[in-house]
Amino acid sequence: MRITMIGTGYVGLVSGVCFSDFGHDVICVDKDPRKIEMLNAGQVPIYEPGLDALMARNVEAGRLSFSTDLAAAVDGAEAIFIAVGTPTRRGDGHADLTYVMAAAEDVARALTGYAVIVTKSTVPVGTNRKVKQVVAKANPGADFDVASNPEFLREGAAIDDFMKPDRVVVGVQTERAAQVMAEIYRPLFLREFPIVTTDLESAEMIKYAANAFLATKITFINEVAALCEKVGADVKEVAKGIGLDGRIGNKFLHAGPGYGGSCFPKDTTALARIGQDHAAPQSIVETVIRVNDAVKHRMIEKLRDLCEGSFNGKTVAVLGVTFKPNTDDMRDAPSLTIVPALVGGGAKVRVVDPQGRREGEGLLPGVVWADDPYKAAQNADLVVILTEWNEFRALDLKKLARKMASPRMADLRNIYSVQDAKRAGFVAYDCIGRPGLI
Ligand code: NAD
Repeated sequence: MRITMIGTGYVGLVSGVCFSDFGHDVICVDKDPRKIEMLNAGQVPIYEPGLDALMARNVEAGRLSFSTDLAAAVDGAEAIFIAVGTPTRRGDGHADLTYVMAAAEDVARALTGYAVIVTKSTVPVGTNRKVKQVVAKANPGADFDVASNPEFLREGAAIDDFMKPDRVVVGVQTERAAQVMAEIYRPLFLREFPIVTTDLESAEMIKYAANAFLATKITFINEVAALCEKVGADVKEVAKGIGLDGRIGNKFLHAGPGYGGSCFPKDTTALARIGQDHAAPQSIVETVIRVNDAVKHRMIEKLRDLCEGSFNGKTVAVLGVTFKPNTDDMRDAPSLTIVPALVGGGAKVRVVDPQGRREGEGLLPGVVWADDPYKAAQNADLVVILTEWNEFRALDLKKLARKMASPRMADLRNIYSVQDAKRAGFVAYDCIGRPGLI
């Protein structure tokens, strides 16, 4: 198959590279010439484990190329994927479809023969029908179908998720489009991954409902964690005890500093707006958004307690600022709420993150970047574990405590325990939903 991928971000680049690895001929297009220059030089503009090697292999095999020339890339393609951003629109919480619609118009003008225009971006219900109208208006003679193919990959494990998905969701209006989509994903079906073929609206809803459900699960355990702290229970034990029930499942039950990232915050907000617009309020999702916001502020109060009531004049080392490990993505990360509160409260903040510095430097003014956790902790009054990178999972706690002016730790990912902290000489330790030592 000849495939064009529009957008070389986290989703577009991974999808394009993986499709080429299936054996398809793929051209990835981006309007950002800097990204295309990097890609043509063999560099990956984002951090995603394993992507550089897979990309190099498929470029070498002649199946994968990169371009800023959308028209040339669309000419002759059998499927054109739109994988551009759909951020929250300023002011009203809706998904901003400007990039999707602009890409659809560009594609329309470049179409030369029958093609399926596939929306991979996360878009509100009704968007694929609008894409169809936009294309038909821009090119009245165009021979095309639209398809919705939402993506479920997780940053940090994106290649594995794409190659071994729990399911592939495809929304179509015609049998012809269904066949093209089946052909594209055929290498996966040989390994028996289920494909859910449905109408456009259901496919669009599946993506939002999935993300809202996962955000709800995280928020549920975060709220349970707050109660555990009050009653002396241990949220890790509670999560284990409920997660072993097959109806509940053990995933997404790790209490932490609140969900963040490029998807959950914007997709829950968009779903809430869609519900309001259709007089079908999504009250649970609306509550999840509110509670998640409160969770981040609860974390700030925890840190303030560990600093004996005030950040002023304290030195705080923050370990991890990306929204989760194994990515450089900082979009809506809890660190963007927590670190400015520390800086604003008068703390000297040192930050260390294996991949977050490039993005984080512009987003976290007033902090000092350190190379490793021990340097960051030198003479500090508090260490905060904010992202559970592997580098922070097996710290030499004794060494860390020795470096500090006053060994105190906020373990916002529940990596260690009171016993570990006590043994290492910490005088104060707090975590989420489990007994602490303050
Ligand atoms: P991103 O911001 O990393 O990348 C988008 C890319 O599209 C950018 O490189 C931008 O330059 C390019 N672009 C925008 N308009 C263009 C145009 N007209 N022509 C060519 N290129 C254009 O975004 P992302 O994180 O990859 O997300 C893309 C979509 O996938 C979003 O709708 C998102 O919700 C969804 N999604 C993201 C993830 C994730 O983990 N990041 C997972 C599932 C779904």
